[in-house]
Amino acid sequence: MLEGKKIVVTGASRGIGRAIALACARAGAVVGLNYRASEESARALEKAHLNRFILLPFDVRDGEAVSAAVAQFRERAGRIDGWVNNAGINLPDLLLSASPQKIREQIDVNLAGPILCAQAVLPVMLEQHSGVILNMSSVAATRPSRGQAVYAATKGGVEALTRALAVEYGRKGIRVHAIRPGPIETEMLESTQAWAADEILARVPLHRLGRPEEVADLAVYLLSDKAGFITGSVHTIDGGYIQG
Ligand code: NAD
Repeated sequence: MLEGKKIVVTGASRGIGRAIALACARAGAVVGLNYRASEESARALEKAHLNRFILLPFDVRDGEAVSAAVAQFRERAGRIDGWVNNAGINLPDLLLSASPQKIREQIDVNLAGPILCAQAVLPVMLEQHSGVILNMSSVAATRPSRGQAVYAATKGGVEALTRALAVEYGRKGIRVHAIRPGPIETEMLESTQAWAADEILARVPLHRLGRPEEVADLAVYLLSDKAGFITGSVHTIDGGYIQG
């Protein structure tokens, strides 16, 4: 579905980002794998699939590094058809106990990161008169749990950014989507489980966690030309997740 496409995925060293990167490569794309410099897993992924991946070490909070990575990927791959703003962190805390550092870090990674990345990649997509930006939101944007005020606010911002960019650049052939996952089986979910697994499952009518590969299948569709008349919308994949 993505033959010949060139796509960058941020936070691709593990979890949902890794699954999206692999699914894009399997669907025929050349994929820019973003990871933070200290991480080994992205290098291992590249070694296993040598000519499908281009390593792009940068921190999404660092605007200069993001711009350099955009230039580097474009030079190697020739163009940029898709950019997946997947990198994210979740540092749960009731707002009154949250440290200024934790608040800042979540806003910087989850919201400023996608804004900086979009700003860096849009000129390339404008030149091409085509491109897709895919942002990773969360059910927390509309159905938050206790302890998620800052995380939820960043994801609400990501959804607003999605709609605003779709309006600003639709006429130029650029589509912008958001995926809004429910609980997905990744290290993030494991490390941030503020409540017991059975409490999470009680909120999921399908009564199981989602798999990163299921989110990746949706991402591949949205990045493909088959989704050519879809833009500005939020695509929920949550097993029917209900407000607690
Ligand atoms: P994860 O913690 O397993 O992976 C997150 C990835 O982002 C990692 O590769 C990490 O290294 C990277 N990352 C973090 N900060 C970064 C930075 N500053 N620069 C570059 N990369 C950075 O998490 P996941 O569960 O795979 O989540 C992926 C996305 O999906 C996130 O945006 C998350 O908010 C969202 N999400 C996850 C769930 C879930 O249940 N797992 C639910 C809803 C939304």
